[in-house]
Amino acid sequence: MAENKEDIKDLSLAELTARIKSLNEPPYRAEQVFEWIYKKGGRSFGVMTDLPAKLRDYLTNKFFVTGSEIIKKQVSKSDGTRKYLFKLSDGEEVEGVYIPAKDPAGGGTGRHTVCLSSQAGCAFGCYFCASGLLGFKRDLRCGEILDQALAIQDDIGVAKGPVGPKGPAGPKRITNVVMMGTGEPLANYDNVVKAIGIMNSPLGLGIGARKITVSTAGYIPGMKRFMQEKEQFELSVSLHAADDIKRSRLMPINKKYPLAELMEFCREYTKGKGRIITFEYILIKDVNSSPTDAQNLAKLLKGLNCKVNLIPFNAVSDFKFRQPSFKDVKIFQEVLEKAGIKSTLRAEKGVDIDAACGQLRLREAKIAQVKHENFS
Ligand code: SF4
Repeated sequence: MAENKEDIKDLSLAELTARIKSLNEPPYRAEQVFEWIYKKGGRSFGVMTDLPAKLRDYLTNKFFVTGSEIIKKQVSKSDGTRKYLFKLSDGEEVEGVYIPAKDPAGGGTGRHTVCLSSQAGCAFGCYFCASGLLGFKRDLRCGEILDQALAIQDDIGVAKGPVGPKGPAGPKRITNVVMMGTGEPLANYDNVVKAIGIMNSPLGLGIGARKITVSTAGYIPGMKRFMQEKEQFELSVSLHAADDIKRSRLMPINKKYPLAELMEFCREYTKGKGRIITFEYILIKDVNSSPTDAQNLAKLLKGLNCKVNLIPFNAVSDFKFRQPSFKDVKIFQEVLEKAGIKSTLRAEKGVDIDAACGQLRLREAKIAQVKHENFS
């Protein structure tokens, strides 16, 4: 990576347009550059042959296009899930995941979801999360977030398709994005919102706002800012327990923003935005998955425009937490259903690879033994 050069992916279309206009070039040149990078798989300025040579030289001298490098990839034989470990320019490592699925409506080329990281490491230290174990390193730049998406899109094949008027005709384009990898996205607000804005832009990755989900551990200052965004991005909140004692032990952020405050804001958010919130709930054996836990959850969410995504804990060998039985999971779900709370049970993906968040990076850091006492 060239020193003293900027990552062109750190610039929004408006920012790039301003730079290009200052060179007395017409604003549509910025749109051409965007299309090359985000639609046509252009990974150097040399391929952008419809730009004047002088502008290509300027861009080459000032910016770089390629960024993080895939240093490890695991592909699930059972369902095609791909897990990536990326190395950033300063040596930090982050993870991204590609999850293929059939289109629920049938037809089409299927759903191609990517799960992206927003920070190198995480300061929030949730008790069940491998990402938090190595501590917080730094925020990712906008371009580093987009790099993960572009590298995955290249890897699943789209950039290798023939280039048509609307970009490559390859069958696999990213259709859905979840900001649910390493880090708290709303604690790196400006970079994350700029990156998802470029993903959403028709000249960027062209992914509908409702197909882009930002997941938070319940960081209320960031949620308040996110409520002001005009695009209809989706918000999901990691809950994982329905009482303060349990949640504070699982998620230390709960001590700062306890459930009463969090739920009050969630109600305000759903009313103000007219949108539902998805609550993520990891089910952990003997911790938060009893029928009483389900009843507490139903009480907490009563009357709220929401749905619950139930996720059986994906056992990480460094942790002592275990997954509840399928029967216990179904009982939990039935309690919610009887109370009128909508829920979905997330199908396990990539069971034969290190699919849980943070596992791949943790392995790479060669942490053989992590002290993890029983949660009791
Ligand atoms: S679950 Fe999210 S917020 Fe909590 S430690 Fe892991 S990455 Fe951070």
